Amino acid sequence: PLKEVAPYCFTLSPDSPLWGQIQRAYRWYSPKFSPHDVPQFADVGSITEDPALMRAIRDFLVDRYRKFPEPPTHILGFDARGFLLGPMVAVELGVPFVLLRKAGKNAGVLISSEPFEKEYKEKNPEVMTVRLGSIGKGSRVVLVDDVLATGGTALSGLQLAEASGATVLEFFAILGLTFLKGAQLSHSYGNGRFSQLPFLTLVDESALTDANCGDVVGYEGPRTISYREALSRL
Ligand code: AMP
Ligand code: MG
Repeated sequence: PLKEVAPYCFTLSPDSPLWGQIQRAYRWYSPKFSPHDVPQFADVGSITEDPALMRAIRDFLVDRYRKFPEPPTHILGFDARGFLLGPMVAVELGVPFVLLRKAGKNAGVLISSEPFEKEYKEKNPEVMTVRLGSIGKGSRVVLVDDVLATGGTALSGLQLAEASGATVLEFFAILGLTFLKGAQLSHSYGNGRFSQLPFLTLVDESALTDANCGDVVGYEGPRTISYREALSRL
């Protein structure tokens, strides 16, 4: 039920049941109620707190990758929210889940990506790392994250897989913010070395309607309530 909305960019049809299930569950927050200064911060917690939806996403991906003529040998997840989605798929497929982690987080000897920016800028450009030897020549990997925004994160993963000698089968995220052209960043990078890399995002920003806003209307208190204050309110 996938449609190709741009070259090598795939998404669910909005009339598919899984699209609707994601649309009903997803919550986004305005900058006032979110950790980052982006217009719509998509909360992965609204996905993980819905077990039926988690199961549906898992089953969709497991079924999809089992049918590949050459199925993935590894699932790679991006620090940190890719860690919530990748393992349930990897376990079912019976393949390793490999952690792509930010600088200073991974153990062992590491390969690092080029520095990259994200939709919300951190103080310094980030780098992503993978442990040397966790994937290699002959590995067929899928990259997993919650959101594809400007695509800097995705590109870092493509670099790490390439520099490990592995083949990337596709990049997957639940939500693609298509107006940020994240797939195009990878497709146009480095003389087109990743120009035919499939990007699969299940829904786009049209799933984040006004009704999906999680902001607490009229709330003027502090966003974080202290332990003691919360106790006193019970
Ligand atoms: P980017 O590298 O710009 O594609 O950003 C993607 C990464 O940043 C993903 O790992 C997301 O977890 C996070 N991210 C970026 N924009 C958003 C957003 N609007 N809502 C939630 N997460 C986001
Ligand atoms: Mg992230």
